[in-house]
Amino acid sequence: MKIISDIQELRDHLRGQNRASFVPTMGNLHEGHLSLMRLARQHGDPVVASIFVNRLQFGPNEDFDSYPRTMQADIDQLEKEGVYILFAPTERDLYPQPQEYRVDPPQQLGDILEGEFRPGFFKGVCTVVLKLFSCVQPKVAVFGKKDYQQLMIIRQMAKQFAIPIDIVPGETIRAEDGLALSSRNTYLSTAERAEAPQLQKLLNEVRKQVLDLKERNAEALSAIEKKAVAQLTSRGWQPDYIAIRQQSDLAPSSDANLQAGEPLVILTAAKLGKTRLIDNLEI
Ligand code: AMP
Repeated sequence: MKIISDIQELRDHLRGQNRASFVPTMGNLHEGHLSLMRLARQHGDPVVASIFVNRLQFGPNEDFDSYPRTMQADIDQLEKEGVYILFAPTERDLYPQPQEYRVDPPQQLGDILEGEFRPGFFKGVCTVVLKLFSCVQPKVAVFGKKDYQQLMIIRQMAKQFAIPIDIVPGETIRAEDGLALSSRNTYLSTAERAEAPQLQKLLNEVRKQVLDLKERNAEALSAIEKKAVAQLTSRGWQPDYIAIRQQSDLAPSSDANLQAGEPLVILTAAKLGKTRLIDNLEI
C-alpha cells in the first residue's frame, strides 16, 4: 500500500486510473470501515482510502483534539484489505490556505437532526468531501448508512454539482450486542458500554410500535417519539432526538404520505455520559 500525504503525488499515482473506488474516513478504523473497503473493491479498482480528521466539521466544544488517532494500527488493517493507496494528508496538505470557499447544504437537509445539534457540521463534511473527491477523482465512493443523513446529503451534493461519482451505501456493522461500531465507542466507560446497546434496542422497539399502528398518522408517530425520548432519559441518557422521518428527504411525513405507505426511517442521537452516539433504523 502506498501512503501519500501530498495532493500532487496522489494525482501522479492515480494518473490514467478511471475506475478507482474511494472510501473517506477519519481513521481509528474498525470493522465498519473495513466492510466499506470490501464493498469498494466490488465496485472499482484500485481502492483508495483516506484518513483525515477534518477540523471544519467539528464544533468549538466538540472532540477534535481528543478524536482517537491510531495511524499505525489503521495502516496495518488497510494493508490486509488490499487497499492500494492510503491518502493521509496533513492539515497543511489539504488546507494550505484557510478554506474560505465552502459547500453549504440546503437548510431543509443540512440544518435538521444532526445539523440542528451540530451547527455547521454538514458544511464541514460537504466541503472536505468535495475536496477529497477533487483530489482522488474516483469513479465510485462508499459511505456508511450509519451516518444516514450524511449519506443523503453527499448523494444530493453529487447530484446537484453533477459530480461523476457513484455514491454507494454500506450497511451498518454492529457489535454482537447490537451497538453500531463507531470510533467514539472508545470513549465509553465499562458501565456505559454495557448500557450502550439499549439505543439500538429502542430503535427496534420504536420500529415495532410503528409497524403495529392500526393507522399511521403524524400524531401517532409523534407520540411514539416522545415516549422513546422519555424512556431513554429515564435510563440516564440525554437524547438529542429520536425522529421518525421519510427516507426520501428526512422530513416529517404528512398524514397523506403516511397513508400512501411512505417509507420511513428512525434516526437518533443521544449522549451517554460525555459520549454522543448516533444510530438509525429503516422501517
Ligand atoms: P468516520 O471515520 O466516522 O468519518 O466514518 C467513515 C465512513 O465509515 C463513513 O462513511 C461512515 O458512515 C462509515 N461508518 C462508520 N461506522 C460504521 C459502521 N458501524 N458500519 C458501517 N459504516 C460505518
